[in-house]
Amino acid sequence: MLSGWQYRLDPTCSQVELCETFGDICRAVWNIALEQRREYRRRGAWMNYEPQAAELAVAKREFPWLAEAPSHILQQALRDLDRACRERGTFNVRWRSKARWSPSFRFPDAKQIAVERTSRRWGRVRLPKLGWVRFRWSRAPGGRIRSATVSRRGGHWFVSFLIEDEQRTPACHALPGSVVGIDRGVKVALTTSAGHFYDRPFVSPGESARMRRLQQKLARQTAGSGRRRRTVAAIGSLAARARNRRADFCAWTANRIADQHAVVVLEDLRIKSMTASAAGTVDEPGRNVQQKAGLNRSILAKSWGLFELALRSRARCTGTRIVLVHPAYTSQTCNACKYRDAKSRESQAGFRCTACGHCDHADVNAAKNILIAAGHAVPGRGDLGSARSVKRQPSGARPVGGSTRPNPCREAGRKSSSSAGPSAFIGLQGQRDTVDAITEVGGGSVSLAFEHVSKVAAATGAAHLDPSHAEAAVLE
Ligand SMILES: [Zn+2]
Repeated sequence: MLSGWQYRLDPTCSQVELCETFGDICRAVWNIALEQRREYRRRGAWMNYEPQAAELAVAKREFPWLAEAPSHILQQALRDLDRACRERGTFNVRWRSKARWSPSFRFPDAKQIAVERTSRRWGRVRLPKLGWVRFRWSRAPGGRIRSATVSRRGGHWFVSFLIEDEQRTPACHALPGSVVGIDRGVKVALTTSAGHFYDRPFVSPGESARMRRLQQKLARQTAGSGRRRRTVAAIGSLAARARNRRADFCAWTANRIADQHAVVVLEDLRIKSMTASAAGTVDEPGRNVQQKAGLNRSILAKSWGLFELALRSRARCTGTRIVLVHPAYTSQTCNACKYRDAKSRESQAGFRCTACGHCDHADVNAAKNILIAAGHAVPGRGDLGSARSVKRQPSGARPVGGSTRPNPCREAGRKSSSSAGPSAFIGLQGQRDTVDAITEVGGGSVSLAFEHVSKVAAATGAAHLDPSHAEAAVLE
């Protein structure tokens, strides 16, 4: 199976500069190519990967700064864009702004990548145009490397290898018959039907105080100033600490739970809609917006989605089956007599049945109900992706993101090679400054594009456990 293995890089100053440059060029190519695709769509035509890649090759001769980056990583950026536009629609894919997109680029050719160990703690990887880059040898890459992705996160550079380890998902679990239901909560992150609680603080009181001070400081600083940039970096590295703890907690817990259980039952939570803002519109403002925002933060802070991703990731190795059940009333129903009453839940943690007097911890009671509900549940999705499978949606039920809409490339595919739209690289003066100017135009949010990148990574097996939602929670 394919899996993603991430290592922390220790690049030299000149390598960091090169990586930043590569990231800038990838960003520029993404933005220019996206604008070209939009222009084509406005004229009723469709732009594809192949003509864009051909245009890029021509443009590289004209604008030498494009040639500073290895051509493979630029082609990969165009491929990612192509997939994003097909899956989400051209106008839903976002610009990559310098301020909000962290550089990330992929070397797809395994022949150009070499890895060797130099000492007990250090290894090095050879990448095109970067040369040998040192990295922390936290574990030996166990398998054949298919591609390498270099990315920056929280002020550090990382390399992720997509590795084929020739392993197969076992047909049956080592402990057949072991079943557990898990309740994901706001107070305690995970509670099992066996009565185990899994939780840990992700942010210390000192860190949250520091975060508050930094954010206040940020609000007072002038946009574009050097001091503001330093504050943003400090906030980023503070957020990265919490994010690392979340990733560690989720991987740790998911590994233990998957190793010990053949079937894991979870609630089918629509985390995205659960954590939607209650702000409403200007004409119809929502109510209790602040309370809802606080609840959203608490939900996101417990990284429910990341845990499910980690569990699915681990389940591929253990053969664990993940079952999702409908979450309605699991916390209000008595596990002993099945009587449902909202009043049974006495407090956050206390559950006392108003019919039979059965007492239990509220989360354990809910986890038991989740386990029992699995009898009527649909089996879990085998994929790693965060997207919901279209096939499993009842007709007319909650619509699925971009995948249900008709694929415009099928209708317009024939037009793609026509000269209906402008060339992507018209108007470039061959200067790096234009990169930023172009990016400024569409500045805006890049979160969707970012989401897409992590989705692509998940789909291609480069399992970046990317808790971008968790990060957002901290940054809020
Ligand atoms: Zn009862």
